[in-house]
Amino acid sequence: MNIYSDERLINLGIISGTVGRDFGSARDKEIAAKIFESLGIPPTKILGLKQVHGDKIISINTEEDLKNYKAQNLHEADGWLLSLPQTGAMILTADCVPLYLWSANGKYVSLTHCGWRGVVQELPKKAAELIKTKTTEKLQAYIGPHIKDCCFEVKEDVASKFPKEAVIHRNNKIFVDLDKAIILQLKAAGVDESEIKTGCHCQCTSCNKRDFFSYRRDGTKDAQLSFIYKL
Ligand SMILES: [Zn+2]
Repeated sequence: MNIYSDERLINLGIISGTVGRDFGSARDKEIAAKIFESLGIPPTKILGLKQVHGDKIISINTEEDLKNYKAQNLHEADGWLLSLPQTGAMILTADCVPLYLWSANGKYVSLTHCGWRGVVQELPKKAAELIKTKTTEKLQAYIGPHIKDCCFEVKEDVASKFPKEAVIHRNNKIFVDLDKAIILQLKAAGVDESEIKTGCHCQCTSCNKRDFFSYRRDGTKDAQLSFIYKL
């Protein structure tokens, strides 16, 4: 199984990462469960949500939070903030960004599903600010595999919603650099740029058909899974 992850998180006891397509589409609940079983994580400990390209983040910091979460059926949101041990959460992506953000001591960890709409709604910045309401620890970030500026062509209406530093004009086409847009937001929220890690162009979900699902390339609902699990 190919997992794209950040060692800093693993070293803090947070098993996490984005699982490549070799295991199949994690949109299939059985495949998602198999992925967790093969990692030694009980699938029942992993919380899920219904992604809506918004800016809502679910916080699970106490047993009470967990009880409230379980008492409700439908959770429309695009991100997580966890601090409860033996608890995990997942999102699905197929071009959108899985953004991992955490306090340097590993107490608080966030995973958000940032499509271009989420980025425009400042979900990355909101995730950083939410952690900062809980702790004064320095924040660290990992921007997982997603569609990169080589492939993320947009029209003027979408480009106009992004800061000019994140918009690239090339061959009479317009591209958006989501890494850049997210880094700008995280910096604005007080995260040091040196603490933000992002993958190479080989981790563009659209270019790299061997390793990733891509909605833009394939037009299917297949998706890769990203998860966090606190030991
Ligand atoms: Zn690409």
